[in-house]
Amino acid sequence: FLTGKTAIVTGSTSGIGLAYARALAAAGASVVLNGFGDADAIEAIRVELAATSGAAALYDPADMREPDQIAALVERAMAETGGCDIVVSNAGIQHVAPVDQFPVDKWDAILAINLTSVFHMMRAAIPHMRAKGWGRIISTASAHSLVASPNKAAYVAAKHGLAGLTKTVALEVAQCGITVNCVSPGYVWTPLVENQIPDTMTARGLTRDQVIADVLLAAQPTKQFVTPEQVAAFGLFLCRDEAAAITGANLTMDGGWTAA
Ligand code: NAD
Repeated sequence: FLTGKTAIVTGSTSGIGLAYARALAAAGASVVLNGFGDADAIEAIRVELAATSGAAALYDPADMREPDQIAALVERAMAETGGCDIVVSNAGIQHVAPVDQFPVDKWDAILAINLTSVFHMMRAAIPHMRAKGWGRIISTASAHSLVASPNKAAYVAAKHGLAGLTKTVALEVAQCGITVNCVSPGYVWTPLVENQIPDTMTARGLTRDQVIADVLLAAQPTKQFVTPEQVAAFGLFLCRDEAAAITGANLTMDGGWTAA
């Protein structure tokens, strides 16, 4: 149902973004991959996506800390595929430390990648969506856009900001055929989660198993990790015409975390 449309997915070389890229390609979209990683592995994903969709698949290495590179990514999608109909702002990083020990460069990078890059993507893409009278902007927020956990000052601040940005822009484009939403997963088993286990072990003096059971899944009543494929399938629904009335929403899929 997305044949003829282009989807840009930031941070799609891994985890949730990669699952989005695959789901969007399977629906027929031309996908623009973005993110860091091994060049051969990324090229293999790009080839796979083009084969799946039967449409062009591009890779753009734009760094989400760099506004000019974000604008250039959108213009490249327009030039090489003719559209930027769907923007999934998903790139994100994490750092775990108490606020008084939080490295300033980590604070700046988390705010830039997890929040400010979404503003730059919206700024660049919305004029093109407006011109077509159709667009879908989906951001990966987090349960941490609604509730906090200790030692995640930058991440929680950025994700709460992302939820506010989403609501604001949804109102601005409400009559333009463009919807703006964020999806807020609980813990999803991806490299981002795996990589924070050592720091959480240090910060809280726990073993690996204790971090998984008592920290990560402690908040998730289902005691199951969310899967990247579940997040992508939910986001894909937002691209359907049946989802045209869903806008300005912060949609949780957190195994009951924020119900508690
Ligand atoms: P991941 O580490 O597997 O993937 C992150 C992606 O972002 C990678 O493709 C990486 O290359 C890319 N990236 C990092 N810095 C970048 C930069 N400067 N410019 C461009 N790309 C960059 O992580 P993930 O778990 O799939 O996370 C994806 C999103 O989901 C993030 O926004 C994260 O905050 C959010 N999220 C994750 C979880 C979870 O439990 N994994 C839960 C809620 C929300």
